[in-house]
Amino acid sequence: MQPFHYQRPDSLESAVIAARNGAPHAGHEADAPARFIAGGTTLLDLMKLEVMRPERLIDINGLGLDRIEANGRAVRLGALVRMSQAADHPMIRADYPVIAQALQLAASAQLRNMASLAGNLLQRTRCLYFRDASVRQCNKRMPGTGCAALDGENRLHAVLGVSEHCIATYPGDLAVALVALDAQLDLLGPDGQRTLPLAELHLAPGDTPHIETVLRPSEMITGLVVPSGPWTRRSRYVKVRDRASYEFALASAAVALDMEGGAVREARIGLGGVATRPWRASEAEESLRGQPLDEESAATAAEIAFAHAIPREHNAYKIPLGKRTLVRALLETASLEG
Ligand code: SF4
Repeated sequence: MQPFHYQRPDSLESAVIAARNGAPHAGHEADAPARFIAGGTTLLDLMKLEVMRPERLIDINGLGLDRIEANGRAVRLGALVRMSQAADHPMIRADYPVIAQALQLAASAQLRNMASLAGNLLQRTRCLYFRDASVRQCNKRMPGTGCAALDGENRLHAVLGVSEHCIATYPGDLAVALVALDAQLDLLGPDGQRTLPLAELHLAPGDTPHIETVLRPSEMITGLVVPSGPWTRRSRYVKVRDRASYEFALASAAVALDMEGGAVREARIGLGGVATRPWRASEAEESLRGQPLDEESAATAAEIAFAHAIPREHNAYKIPLGKRTLVRALLETASLEG
């Protein structure tokens, strides 16, 4: 691990200033020499692997970003709420079950006790070529070098949102649930505060896979706001993986439904494990509007959700698996009490 400077500021504002010192004011967060650290469960891993080599770490623990507050119209989760804190919260479990389930099915108990929600949203891909600094072909780690996964071991890679420069899967679960629920992010940076729809945070790889988010240099997530609606209680997260614990999704689906009688008034669908970013299946949602939710309409929605999937040699199985996962999530959610 390369040496780094460690700072522990006493306010959010001084944390932003500390991160900004010496950093370019314009550009992308990917270029920043300083990183905020909270739980450190992704960052320290990648630093030990020499995949990330920040010059400075700004510790933002203890700055009051660990509260959960609800007002009937929305819940606000502080950026440094721990995964287990949100997963075990009675109100989250009752009113936003898709969030609690996405968190419970992620990582291990020890990691959930340590990892923050914002850190979880920003976790980086598990592509083996990205995480192995001895591999010379990885556009995400070293722009312009190529992509070893295109013709290599790509069983775990994405089929949606891919480009010829990168097919790395977005690995998280929480963001998949939150993108389905139209969550908003509160951000703080050198230019002050702003809000951002979570759906706009992560970028598809395109021809710049090293730029993963729209965060600006020295900008931090301070909280997540999830609006409440008729769909939030009737929601579910289904995750399929190689083993039943401590494993990333091969395919997952977050579904939230507003139903009247047996018909869908509004459906919200997020897909994980199959895409390069937290994936909102808007066209599939549209196909369900006004329809009874049964095997046939769920299968049609799943076909639509994967209509533009692009498989590689070892990951074509993700298309039928992803469809079955979505069908199951839709039918199980429809069977819940509204
Ligand atoms: Fe790198 Fe993306 Fe290719 Fe993996 S899929 S080797 S992260 S460029």
